[in-house]
Amino acid sequence: MSGLHPSKPFPEAARDKVNQPQLRANLRKVTHTIREKRLRAVGELPHWEELRLLGEATKDASLANLSDRLLQLEASVKARGGQVHWARDAAEAREIVVRIAQAHQVDELIKVKSITSDEIELNATLQERGIHAIETDLAELIVQLSHDTPSHILVPAIHRNRAEIQALFNRELPGEGGLSDSPAELAGAARRYLRHKFLTTKMAVSGVNFAVAETGTVCVVESEGNGRMCLTLPEVLVSIMGIEKVLERWEDLSVFMELLPRSSTAERMNPYTSFWSGVTPGDGPQEFHLILLDNGRTEVLADATGRQTLRCIRCSACLNVCPVYERTGGHAYGSVYPGPIGAILTPQLLGMQDKNANTLPGASSLCGACFDACPVRINIPQVLIYLRGEVTAEKGVTAEALAMKTVGYAMSSGWRFEGALKLARVGQGPLVKGGEITSLPGLLGGWTQSRDLKTLPPQSFREWWKERERDSE
Ligand code: SF4
Repeated sequence: MSGLHPSKPFPEAARDKVNQPQLRANLRKVTHTIREKRLRAVGELPHWEELRLLGEATKDASLANLSDRLLQLEASVKARGGQVHWARDAAEAREIVVRIAQAHQVDELIKVKSITSDEIELNATLQERGIHAIETDLAELIVQLSHDTPSHILVPAIHRNRAEIQALFNRELPGEGGLSDSPAELAGAARRYLRHKFLTTKMAVSGVNFAVAETGTVCVVESEGNGRMCLTLPEVLVSIMGIEKVLERWEDLSVFMELLPRSSTAERMNPYTSFWSGVTPGDGPQEFHLILLDNGRTEVLADATGRQTLRCIRCSACLNVCPVYERTGGHAYGSVYPGPIGAILTPQLLGMQDKNANTLPGASSLCGACFDACPVRINIPQVLIYLRGEVTAEKGVTAEALAMKTVGYAMSSGWRFEGALKLARVGQGPLVKGGEITSLPGLLGGWTQSRDLKTLPPQSFREWWKERERDSE
């Protein structure tokens, strides 16, 4: 897996994962726990649905005038002493960070959890240029030390158990070696390691949850306080944000400060919420850079149906209710954006021609749980169906499309359907083994890759009904 691009089609990647019972058990336990806590937190607010509508309307209003909002943000940040950089794509964004790091001659920097920096594969580029990036979010640190990739937006190390973390810290953290698997001891070891880095590293890179155009204020929400250390202690701070993160007014934030923590960690209030505007002499970083990243977002914005994807505030509520995510985990999506939001965001950012990403809209049962959970009311099932249509249009006339047309023709008339059933009943004979069909030939084989089919009954309902009518006469 690398950045945005899945290296395999979803069905192939998912097959490996669903065959790991331990992984499925871990995922089930964590997602069910978070989902139940979230329901309780949300249930406390009688006006939750009104808040969701407000979240949707606020983001839509900002997206409707995105270019104006971004220019306003640029002016506000500059007026407060910050510097603003525009990046068309991942490569431009990476180069900007490298340039700033080289200007300050740093060979090490600290990072606070930022999916956008993973999207642009920042760490690998920095490493190639001799700059080591250290993740300071505990779960991200675990993922980094184990040379792994995150599998959940909120809980990146959801797939790791405590014994694995114990072995990892004993092996990788300097000066450790005899740690037990006690959570307090493991957290203490991480704290010792990170504290030293906070106090000795002079540059930090952060993500951005929200940015306010009218004040030039940038906001990061997190749970551990490590983010706040990154945002306040180093001399130089670089924040990378997707352009959709901008809000118009300061008061818009109040809506998301309610929606985000309850949807994400099921908390009433986020433990650490940091706001900063430009630079303040003698207090905090003395140099602040804000990178505004497009990387496919303006294409998404131009699409009337797909645009709603840009409302996403990365709360991860849709992951925790998704039956597909629960069984495959995040790695099967092959991108930094897993779960239902990944299934619509990744292919849109990459374009529907990407032959691996365009399998992602199929990674859904269309049960609609993601839409119900989404605090900004992104109609994920609607976008999934729309994208599936785009994929079909992209492929042109395929054997699958012809087969569907034939089925459609047969099902559009009663007598044709009955005739087709009779033929199928005779034709299924050689395929039936032990009362079930376990393998279909050719194109139809996809149906039996992960399921056995019931055989057609000797008598259809229509035949039974006709017989019943005859007998009663
Ligand atoms: S799509 Fe909605 S539920 Fe999913 S991460 Fe984004 S905001 Fe949260």
